[in-house]
Amino acid sequence: MKIETRAVHVGRKPEAGSRDVTPAIHLSTTYQKAEDGSLPGGFLYSRNDNPNRAALEEALASLEGGYAALAFSSGNAATNAMFQAMLAGHHIIAGEDVFYGTAILLQRLKHHGIEHTLVDMQDLAAVERALRPSTRLIWVETPSNPLLHITDIAALAAIAHKVGALLACDNTWATPLLQLPFKLGADVVMHSVTKYLSGHSDVLSGALIFQDGDEFFEKVQGIQREGGAVPSPFECWLTLRGLQTFPYRVRAQSHSAQRIAEFLAHQPQIEAVHYPGLPSHSGHEVAKRQMSGFGGMLSIQVKGGQKEAFKLAAGVKLFTHATSLGGPHSLIEHRASVEGAATRSPVNLLRLSIGLEHPDDLIEDLERALKKL
Ligand SMILES: *Cc1c(COP(=O)(O)O)cnc(C)c1O
Repeated sequence: MKIETRAVHVGRKPEAGSRDVTPAIHLSTTYQKAEDGSLPGGFLYSRNDNPNRAALEEALASLEGGYAALAFSSGNAATNAMFQAMLAGHHIIAGEDVFYGTAILLQRLKHHGIEHTLVDMQDLAAVERALRPSTRLIWVETPSNPLLHITDIAALAAIAHKVGALLACDNTWATPLLQLPFKLGADVVMHSVTKYLSGHSDVLSGALIFQDGDEFFEKVQGIQREGGAVPSPFECWLTLRGLQTFPYRVRAQSHSAQRIAEFLAHQPQIEAVHYPGLPSHSGHEVAKRQMSGFGGMLSIQVKGGQKEAFKLAAGVKLFTHATSLGGPHSLIEHRASVEGAATRSPVNLLRLSIGLEHPDDLIEDLERALKKL
């Protein structure tokens, strides 16, 4: 079945008994056992598993085309569970522009004897040079933040598998509507479900989806269940609610972003537009091959510097100056000031998350604010 159909149906069978079409929120933390001590409903204790989380995990696995999904209390909790499954002496490779929360988690791993190397993932030769006999994991994020660099996932999978490492792909920005990492050879897909999948800026959640139900999957499932960084039944319910519309939302956001990127590319006040849907973008050809659309995120560099960037962020009315992405409201953000002293983001850079407003209105809003620079 197509992704739109799966987004509506998987994990959403009418409930036995009540016949609710929209599932109930199951708040119980514990489940009644049968006379012989068995569990007729299949649930023991809600940290291990519960009906709302099971439904969400079934839906997420289906959308990515994986074997199974594990839901976490945030994207970072999902990433952390992956990293906790590594052992002292193991080595990880990630992009030098990896999400800054992921980079901080990698830093912390050093205390546990797990080393990492950050490389420019667009440069596959640099990835090969960073390989060590102890490399167990390559972590890729494409498109990346905030310059929307594109990495060739299939080529990276071949490099990882040559040395017996896993390839994990943070698919938050592309979503399974636009990019299916398992089809390109990835072993694990990570999501900040907080963003497009839940889609309404009102849920903090994350997920890992696995290509295989092997020993590694079971190990991470143990970390999820015993570590307990799990989303509540209400968050699972909200996410499953948002998931039903995600393909339509992301398609619209992606179309609007393309139009806005094209508009911005012609404005004299803009020095650069970073969007993989523009033929001038360095990753355009690879993105065309591995994505079915270019996503709702873009970044721009404003002529001048930080002062002009702040003025533009303050001048727009429909874009809210706030962090995060993937919701119905368009957001604009100065990344360098969020990421602090160690930032690699240019000071004149603004990141735009295109929402569900009509693109004509967003363009008019940007046009008006640009004129005041
Ligand atoms: C937001 C984000 C994360 C972290 O997810 P949280 O839900 O905020 O913990 C990881 N990767 C990417 C690409 C993100 O945008």
